[in-house]
Amino acid sequence: MNSFADELSRRLATLREQNLFRELRRVDSAQGTRIAIGNKTFLNFSANDYLGLAHHPELKEAAVRAVEKFGAGAGASRLICGSLAPFHELEETLAAFKQTEAALTFATGYAAAVGTITAVCGKDDIIILDKLVHACIVDAAKLSGAKLRVFVHNDLADLEDKLKWAAKAEGGRRKAEVLVITESIFSMDGDAAPLREIVALKEKYGAWLMVDEAHATGILGKHGRGLADAFGVSGQIEIQMGTLGKALGASGGYIAGSQALIDYLVNRARSFIFSTAPVPAAAAAATAGIKLVQSAAGESLRSQLQQRVAEFKLAIGHGKLEILSAIVPLILGGEEKTLVAATKLREQNIFVPAIRYPTVARGAARLRVTFSATHTATDVAELVTALNKLAIGN
Ligand SMILES: *Cc1c(COP(=O)(O)O)cnc(C)c1O
Repeated sequence: MNSFADELSRRLATLREQNLFRELRRVDSAQGTRIAIGNKTFLNFSANDYLGLAHHPELKEAAVRAVEKFGAGAGASRLICGSLAPFHELEETLAAFKQTEAALTFATGYAAAVGTITAVCGKDDIIILDKLVHACIVDAAKLSGAKLRVFVHNDLADLEDKLKWAAKAEGGRRKAEVLVITESIFSMDGDAAPLREIVALKEKYGAWLMVDEAHATGILGKHGRGLADAFGVSGQIEIQMGTLGKALGASGGYIAGSQALIDYLVNRARSFIFSTAPVPAAAAAATAGIKLVQSAAGESLRSQLQQRVAEFKLAIGHGKLEILSAIVPLILGGEEKTLVAATKLREQNIFVPAIRYPTVARGAARLRVTFSATHTATDVAELVTALNKLAIGN
C-alpha cells in the first residue's frame, strides 16, 4: 500500500511541477452568472450554460414534476426494466427539433460518443478525426479498434489526403467503412468547421460523417437547431451528436439520425445497453430545454447572448468579429502564465477557467471565456476592466 501511495504522490508532484495539477472548487450556489465559492461570490464566465437554462424555472418545474410522477431513479437500463415515458418524450422532441427520423439519448455526451462510435466502427474500419475533436471522440475511436487518421484542424486538403488514403486502404474480411468525425463548433477554440465542404468530400469518397454539435445546439441555425442546419446539410450527415448539458440546460447526450441508426444503437451501443438509465428528471428538464430554445423566448436569449459576445470582442479588439459561438479563447500559451492570470481574475472576483494540457495542446494554454444570455452588459464591462488590468486582450 505504501508503494502505491508513494507512486501516486510522485505522479501528482510531477503534475504540480508542470502546472498541470487540477483541483475541484466547491460551489455552494446554482450555476449562473454569479456563483458562490467559499464565502465569496464570483462573476462566472466558465459555464457552457449558454442560454442560462440550467437554473430556468421552466426546466426546474419540469424536473420536479418528473420526480413526483416517476421518482428519483430509473431502476435499471432501459432495455431491462422498461423505458420510462420521459425518455420517449425527450427523444421525440429531439428528433422533431433536429428534423431527423429518430433520436436516442444517453447518460452523457461522453457515453453517446463511446457507445455510438464503437457500435458503428470496428477493427476493419477507418476513422478520420479532426485534430481538435473532444476527448470523448478520441477515446471512443481508440476503443473501437479502427485504424485512426487525424487531419489538420479544419484543413480540407489534408482531410482529402486522408480520404484518398482510406479509399485505397485494405479492409479486413470485409470492405473498410470510413467514418469522418468533426465538431461543428470546437469546444476550446469556439471556431466552426466548414461543414458544407466536409459533406461534399465525404460524399465524393463514399465515407460516413459524424458531427458533434455540443456547442452549437441551441445556439446556431434556425430555432437553435445547430450549425448543420445553418449550412443546410443536416440531411447529409449520417450521425448527429450532441449534449443536453450545455445550451439545453440539463444533462445527457444524444444521437440523432435515421430510424435504422437508432434501432442499431439500441442493439449495439454498449454504454446505452449496460448502463442504468439517467434520472427521469434530467430527461424532463432536457425536453423543456429543447422546447424553450425553439420558442420566442429562446430566440431572444440567443440574441442577448450574441450581443454580449459582440460587446466583449469589440472591447478587447478580438480579430474575429463574426459571431459564431459563445466561446472566446484568450490564448496565453504557457501553463503557468495562464494559471497566474486565472488566479488574478479570481482575486477580482471573476471566475474564468485556465484550460491546459491535456484539454488543449501543451503550450497552448488559455483562458476560456464563455458567455451566457443571462450576463448583462455591465458584467461584460467588468470582465473587460479586469482583463485590461492584467494587460490581456489581443
Ligand atoms: C462537453 C462535450 C461533450 C461531452 O458531453 P457531456 O454531456 O458533457 O458528457 C462531447 N463533445 C464535446 C465537443 C463537448 O464539448
